[in-house]
Amino acid sequence: TRARYQALRDLPAQTLDGVDISLLLNVGLMFDLQQLDATGATGVGLYRTEIPFMVRRDIPDVKQQTDAYRRVLEGAGGRPVTFRTLDAGGDKHIQAFDHDPGDNPALGWRSLRISVDHPSLLRNQLRAILRAADGAPVDLMFPMVSTVGEFDAARSILDRELEHAIRGGEKLPSNLRLGSMLEVPSLAWQLPEILSRVDFLSVGSNDLQQFFFAADRGDQRVTHRYDPVSVPFLRLLKQIADACEEYGKPLTLCGEMAGSRIGAMALVGIGYRRLSMAAASIGPVKETIRAINYSDLETFISNLLKSREGRLVEHLKAFARDHQV
Ligand code: PEP
Ligand code: MG
Repeated sequence: TRARYQALRDLPAQTLDGVDISLLLNVGLMFDLQQLDATGATGVGLYRTEIPFMVRRDIPDVKQQTDAYRRVLEGAGGRPVTFRTLDAGGDKHIQAFDHDPGDNPALGWRSLRISVDHPSLLRNQLRAILRAADGAPVDLMFPMVSTVGEFDAARSILDRELEHAIRGGEKLPSNLRLGSMLEVPSLAWQLPEILSRVDFLSVGSNDLQQFFFAADRGDQRVTHRYDPVSVPFLRLLKQIADACEEYGKPLTLCGEMAGSRIGAMALVGIGYRRLSMAAASIGPVKETIRAINYSDLETFISNLLKSREGRLVEHLKAFARDHQV
């Protein structure tokens, strides 16, 4: 199978009827980045900036962060990289933060909530990303956005940092695209507001699923009980895709769901065109996409979503079998 995936490396992730899908890489460690060439991924759809924070006891300063982000951009060799600002807390423990995680860490003071309460933390990180870009385009997104007000607060911290860079005579990115993750259900009811503010949206299905089903993403006793390839979750994801289409905003999905053959199939069928995943998933997902007929799949899924059943995995597996996927 390895050789089979290897043979697909330079071929496009295109359906039989010509729909192009971008397959991107999720990166945390430098090792992940080295998989860009091996897999033929077209860029980094999610760079988790908290990883360098997690592996040390102190908070890296601007210089250390700049060096780290520069290495990422060099490693990507000109392919686009979407930097996600610090997503601390919940399942991502940062040794240097010794705050009380609270009774429900996933729902507590974490991620962007910490960043807007500690603007200097976010500003240092943004400063480092802007410096590392050194005039090249930058794609940046905020995690765990729950309300547009919170997005605005983070955006104004970015604006202050951009003014600082201008005053200091530093090079600005030739193009700065600012996005939001959608991984908290409340944001799905603010789609017009968030989409009129961002350049792109990225669905974090791991957290979105956790909050949607009220099921801890790390608790094995419940993770298998709720399937993302199911009527309720796909209906939500489709609403998001439809809104992005209406507003003309690029949409990526960067959770684990994108990396499974059936998950990716479902996503393509409801309108997702950019999927970001771990390196090992690129080959299998590309193989699947190249074997499907989008228009058949789209009809099949939209009928399933009307049928009001629960899990759809078996139905999609049957579709795959019937269509030699
Ligand atoms: C997600 O929540 O789906 C996501 C991509 O981010 P993380 O797994 O880092 O929380
Ligand atoms: Mg997340």
